[in-house]
Amino acid sequence: MSAESANPAVNMDAIVSLAKRRGFIFQSSEIYGGLNGFFDYGPLGSELKKNIRDCWWNDMVRRRDDVVGVETSIIMHPKVWEASGHVAGFTDPLVDCKVSKQRYRADQLFFAAVVVDGKTVGYVSALESEKTTEDLQAAAETFKRKKAIQGTLAPVAPRDFTEAKPEEWALIPSPATGEPGSLTEPRAFNMMFETHVGPMRDSASVAYLRPETAQGMFVDFKNVVDTGRVKLPFGIAQIGKSFRNEITPRNFIFRSREFEQMEMEYFIHPDADWFKCHEDWLAWCKAWLISIGLPESHLSLYEHKKEKLAFYSRRTVDIMFNYPFGVQELWGIAARSDYDLKQHQQFSGVPQTWFDEATKQKVVPHVIEPAVGVDRILLAVLCAGYAEEDVKDEKGNVEKRTVLRLSPRVAPVKVAVLPLLKNKEALVGRAKALYQKLQRRYAVFYDDGGAIGRRYRRQDEIGTPWCVTIDFDTIEKPGDTFTLRERDSMQQRRLNEAELFALLEEKVY
Ligand code: ATP
Repeated sequence: MSAESANPAVNMDAIVSLAKRRGFIFQSSEIYGGLNGFFDYGPLGSELKKNIRDCWWNDMVRRRDDVVGVETSIIMHPKVWEASGHVAGFTDPLVDCKVSKQRYRADQLFFAAVVVDGKTVGYVSALESEKTTEDLQAAAETFKRKKAIQGTLAPVAPRDFTEAKPEEWALIPSPATGEPGSLTEPRAFNMMFETHVGPMRDSASVAYLRPETAQGMFVDFKNVVDTGRVKLPFGIAQIGKSFRNEITPRNFIFRSREFEQMEMEYFIHPDADWFKCHEDWLAWCKAWLISIGLPESHLSLYEHKKEKLAFYSRRTVDIMFNYPFGVQELWGIAARSDYDLKQHQQFSGVPQTWFDEATKQKVVPHVIEPAVGVDRILLAVLCAGYAEEDVKDEKGNVEKRTVLRLSPRVAPVKVAVLPLLKNKEALVGRAKALYQKLQRRYAVFYDDGGAIGRRYRRQDEIGTPWCVTIDFDTIEKPGDTFTLRERDSMQQRRLNEAELFALLEEKVY
């Protein structure tokens, strides 16, 4: 078989459908109609997610001498979130439509004045998308036509609702109803989920589900310094769930209300070259994404504008990924100065310092923070790997195959073991022995059902890099060799057990 042409038709519908069909991702509580912004990972999805986590943990923590790991609790002392600024400032601007009861994030609700012959004759609105400007232009043309207004329509100048002047609020139509007058003014909405600790439900028992894992590392900074043998510069890393009551969860698992983060706080001496350290981590994160199979061509950098940074932040650069719904933030790398440790020092009264042997002085370290979401990586991996191809069999017949080109590092199944026939005892016996040996170290799959071509297709669709077929040559010819079929090239070659394990050792790490 040979691949004829790659089909670039990757759209979110194809990804969502494959994710559901093959057991990667389900809507949470689906039998009850689902809960917006929450997802479950099925048998293949949980393997894929675990592999992403393991690759990060191995590369970030185990294979580095300057980073240690922690696992901190999801519910922390409420003072943590006062000190971090989340109670006061972890907000998104919210706009309500009083008629439809829909809620919008003001910075995702776009509008434009309809200007005819230099005069504003009305307003149109559209939700943020890849083609916001086109949508607004089309809406402006429709508006002019419906109202039978004569004259020349100016090109629209889109703004988001946070930029609307108070006198414009009532004039902008709601995207739900198409009519003006129902949108409220934007107000700050805190995204932290609240709960209560203990039997009393009063203001003294309020606690929060953490909106980021980072504060766990700051709050445990002293414990790690006092109990480990860490020396500046060093990092504390953690993987764990975070929760944000996002106003508009969207784009499948890209923006959800419960998600998982992999964050690392890299503490450096206040006199250290923070810019170089920031650049080094940026390069490390990008190289890591490529190492798990994301093509460099899909990655880009976005430098946050100085005037938009928080006052304590020196620099933030996001690694962006080209998703089917647009180029979006995947990984944020921030230089956060000594803000967090100083805040906790002030709120807790406990010094957050490190003793510098060279100068015999206590210093509050500064921090570089690479923060990424596991779910966003997983979605990027699925989008980058998905392809529909026309392939030809030996007889020249063209058929479609769906293939997930996942890196062997993250693929949920590494090898499928396939006995050529299921009713030949010698073939099955050899296949099962190999399967059990592989199982001790790798996620493998045994499949003896259906034609061999169909079995290959099933594995292609879930991203299995290799299939091993136990055929008559295995049992009849010397050398105990199998047919190894490679997913992407569909090339086949023979190899023995030792060579198979060597291949896996090299590629799965
Ligand atoms: P965004 O601007 O997209 O809301 P953010 O800048 O608020 O993201 P951070 O607070 O920097 O995000 O969080 C670090 C990382 O956590 C993000 O780069 C992203 O990968 C992930 N993340 C943040 N919010 C979500 C979410 N609601 N769902 C899934 N992943 C998220």
